[in-house]
Amino acid sequence: MKEIHEECGVLGIYGAEQASRLAFLGLQSLQHRGQQGCGIAATGDDGSIRLHKGAGLVKDVFSGADLERLQGRICIGHVRYPTTNVGGMENLQPFCISSKAGRFALAHNGNIVNVDSIRAHLETLGHLFHSTSDSELFGHLIGMEHVSNGWVANIISAARRLDGAFCTVIMADGVLYACRDKYGFHPLSLGKLGEGYVVASETCALNALGAEFIRDVEPGELVAIGPGGVESYRHSQFVGRRMCAMEYIYFARPDSDIEGCGVHIFRKRTGKLLYEEHPVPADIVTCVPESSQSAAIGYAEAGRIPLEMGLIKNMYVARTFIQPAQSMREIGVKMKLSPVRSVVRGKSVAVIDDSIVRGTTSRQIVQMLRDAGAREVHMLIASPKYAWPCFYGIDTGSKEQLIGSSHTTEEICKFIGADSLHYLSEKALFAASGRESLCTACFSGKYPTELYDHE
Ligand code: SF4
Repeated sequence: MKEIHEECGVLGIYGAEQASRLAFLGLQSLQHRGQQGCGIAATGDDGSIRLHKGAGLVKDVFSGADLERLQGRICIGHVRYPTTNVGGMENLQPFCISSKAGRFALAHNGNIVNVDSIRAHLETLGHLFHSTSDSELFGHLIGMEHVSNGWVANIISAARRLDGAFCTVIMADGVLYACRDKYGFHPLSLGKLGEGYVVASETCALNALGAEFIRDVEPGELVAIGPGGVESYRHSQFVGRRMCAMEYIYFARPDSDIEGCGVHIFRKRTGKLLYEEHPVPADIVTCVPESSQSAAIGYAEAGRIPLEMGLIKNMYVARTFIQPAQSMREIGVKMKLSPVRSVVRGKSVAVIDDSIVRGTTSRQIVQMLRDAGAREVHMLIASPKYAWPCFYGIDTGSKEQLIGSSHTTEEICKFIGADSLHYLSEKALFAASGRESLCTACFSGKYPTELYDHE
């Protein structure tokens, strides 16, 4: 239903009995970050790496027999959402790579912005790629280093050549590595799991496994988890956190904490601030289920307006973004969302949503509320106007597809047919996060990195 999608989630487990079974559970907690496919690679007691991956949801890809085959106390896992036109099976992760340095497996979340120039350089050196994935490129860079440098040196050397977003888990010679780009675009957390450890894209996966949160893997850090515990290394001395604001606004699960800030709490604060900036004359507040639920609670509480279930979501309809034609997508929205007529009839409704990307979904929501008898529909967005494409691992389509890039707020309001449309200010976004730095490039166009071939 949403027009904006996360690419991936990663997980790594070290030193736990039946690690792959735990990964199977943990990956299901990260399923919201990608539904195209998933995989687990495990290191057996004999040191060999076994891999199973496939298209579909975690619960459907792995049978009991598959997990039995993935024996061992160390594993890494991945859930994937593809960017446009790069959705082949060959891009499913983890990747297992045989190299001069030895055999290893890796899985990755994020987009590397200087990927084209590095790929071209490696191809001139004779490297052959089996996928279009950034992760395989990272793997080639790690593997091209000579074994005598050791894995830590190899990974650091590879990470230093990359610019952009990467949260990467790597498994080599019985050690689990976790590496985060120097900006810290996407979250990666470390937890204690009995005598072992777990790293995961979100703390909700740690909670699901009963792991105790230790800390975040820092931007620019490489951690190595082995028999001696956790060792920390730096691949960059850059200081300047740029966590993706959309992780807080939309992608992450509300029960996750990102760099010390609870996602539900953040969203509730945006709702409160949205009310302070834009109080509208509403009889009821409703959310677009489910990512704007927390913001709607904040807005309703701040305005002392009843929070109502004005829209419900049908959980059992296939995701509309896999339907390529816009007309099919629009039917998909109607299949997925329904207004509750008895709630909205005759009412002035404040609809809280997290973002407007193309505008077509918002237009349908306004229309369905009007058809159900709403007297007024006010659309309130718990983030600033989305006007610039993302190059760091979020699929939003091109700039031309973003209604905010070419239309004023008044024009968008007219397009979606609302009585009023209001966005949260960037200042309020920072206030809600309680932090001074975030990546907000899709609102401001101020990208934290060079854009290389994307310019
Ligand atoms: S451009 Fe937007 S979606 Fe992409 S990382 Fe930055 S804040 Fe997140």
